[in-house]
Amino acid sequence: MTMWDVVADMLFAAKGKVSSLASGEFRRGTISLLSTHLLEQAWEEMATTLTEAHFGNAREILETEPPRWLADSSAASCMLCSVRFHPIMCSRHHCRFCGGIFCRECSKGRSLLPPKFRTGDPQRVCDVCCVRLESVQPYLMDQVSRASQLPTHDLTDLSTLRSWLNFPWCHSMEYEIYKAANIVRGYNKVGSLGPEKSIPDAILKQAEGLAILTVAKVGLMVSYNIGTGLVIAWREGGSWSPPSAISSIGIGWGAQAGGEFTDFIIVLRTKDAIRTFSGNAHISVGADASAAAGIVGRAVEADLRAGNGGYAACYTYSCSKGAFVGCSLEGSMVTTRAAENSRFYASSSIKASDILLGSLPKPPAAAVLYNALSDLYLKLGR
Ligand SMILES: [Zn+2]
Ligand SMILES: [Zn+2]
Repeated sequence: MTMWDVVADMLFAAKGKVSSLASGEFRRGTISLLSTHLLEQAWEEMATTLTEAHFGNAREILETEPPRWLADSSAASCMLCSVRFHPIMCSRHHCRFCGGIFCRECSKGRSLLPPKFRTGDPQRVCDVCCVRLESVQPYLMDQVSRASQLPTHDLTDLSTLRSWLNFPWCHSMEYEIYKAANIVRGYNKVGSLGPEKSIPDAILKQAEGLAILTVAKVGLMVSYNIGTGLVIAWREGGSWSPPSAISSIGIGWGAQAGGEFTDFIIVLRTKDAIRTFSGNAHISVGADASAAAGIVGRAVEADLRAGNGGYAACYTYSCSKGAFVGCSLEGSMVTTRAAENSRFYASSSIKASDILLGSLPKPPAAAVLYNALSDLYLKLGR
């Protein structure tokens, strides 16, 4: 019995009720006020039963236990479209919600599963389960998605390798958040050393957004730079947006041999820069987003206060040997990691622009990053 059977049954019953009322009226030949009232009541009743059934059904779905998966041998063909399985042309896929076996085409949907499945990543489901689970997705996004969980990597623990070394290629947004928080905290410490070693306060204060990433340089003659990170934007209302995951790849900016990890902070200075960083296309830093090596020093600070802030949409800073210095990211390509955003926010249709420029609430999972940023901006007085 599926949700649709239940709904169809109820519609049928309600229709019976209404038509019996109506035929009664016709026999009398008049439509009295009373019967109109009865008719209205019947419709209202139907609406309530439907809503109740909907909620009852949702509760039932939310309490579902993980299924026992059918053995591969139990289905020679897809349980929905009956296409025969084939070792290469058509492989078997289990629906994570009902445990049935389906072809790839009939199990394209990815949905969050109820709490008893103990997973926060959207999982493969068959088309029928995808429709059944649709009504509970918003609830599950609030309850079980990765974005809704409090962070488990806390920054105060120095007994882990990750607290000492930021990895340039990480798989999950959770780690990106940790890494970015670590870099901002590192910057907070460096910033207290002196103006020559930090990003000028005026530049940070005017920032419309920040891109924070770690890049590894590999190779000898030609060096390749690969890395991942995230972007966050400053919102009108005076708070940070949720983070959007990015990756960057580039060829040799710098003559020295590779083999090092570098943290970068890119200060995005205009709304347009945010828009560029929230597109799905590759952004070539320097061409699509005008970027300049970040400027440092006391003189700069005075210049900026006087309103001469330069024209570059982005300023790039790298952290090397404990100090933040201006650097050029010319020639690197930055891309939104759409799949990672989808996994983290548990929504296959989410776009980086929704995350950075929309009204999506701040995910609890990024609490450590927001804390680090508010420490930084408290000092700057924004
Ligand atoms: Zn199929
Ligand atoms: Zn299913």
